[in-house]
Amino acid sequence: MPIDTSLFSSAPIEGLEEDCENWLPASEFPPLPAPGIQKFYITNIREVKATDTPDGQRIAAILDYKIEGGADDDKVITFQRLNNISYMSKDRGRSSGLLDLVKSAGYKKVKDNAQFVSILNEMEEKAVTFQAQGDWQGQCMGCNRKKLRELTGMPSDEVAKASSTVAQRKESWASGEKARHYRDFPPHPRFPTMKAENFMCTTCGGEVRAQYKIVRYIEPSQVQ
Ligand SMILES: [Zn+2]
Repeated sequence: MPIDTSLFSSAPIEGLEEDCENWLPASEFPPLPAPGIQKFYITNIREVKATDTPDGQRIAAILDYKIEGGADDDKVITFQRLNNISYMSKDRGRSSGLLDLVKSAGYKKVKDNAQFVSILNEMEEKAVTFQAQGDWQGQCMGCNRKKLRELTGMPSDEVAKASSTVAQRKESWASGEKARHYRDFPPHPRFPTMKAENFMCTTCGGEVRAQYKIVRYIEPSQVQ
């Protein structure tokens, strides 16, 4: 049933014309959490795979997190890739991504792959929280993929990736415009105190989109 419009005011609503003019559709991507230290917990273990290394079997996990508390409460961080292959860190001696994760969640000891997995299971089941520092990173995937096709001589991205060497992937990763940190992103067009989540690659004109990355897991004793 049509509603009688004469019942309603025709006085212009202040600011509406401008809002109408400047209206933007919602991004298909949910807004990224702010960079900095946040409290997280595992919501989903997507995958854990065994991988053979010269030092024996190691595992690689793909995990989803959620943020607990603060302005970004309940925001989801997907596809965090971690393994337990040790590397020499610049300031803390040997560690691995998974060791950083379980230590930041307060687990004192872990001695084998099975135990790593049982800790991950428990963290997921009990929503064990841990603190970590997030940052934004972005890279032009168009330039990256193009470089890899050139280096491998393969016409498709999939084949190029599958047939590439570590050195070729490193070289393609190095090419293409990138932003390594939140501060490297341009100002937000509407809210100058914030950063835009994407910018145009000056090489190819493609979109570089920010991704949220955990850059540091924080051991509980460091937490204030
Ligand atoms: Zn590009």
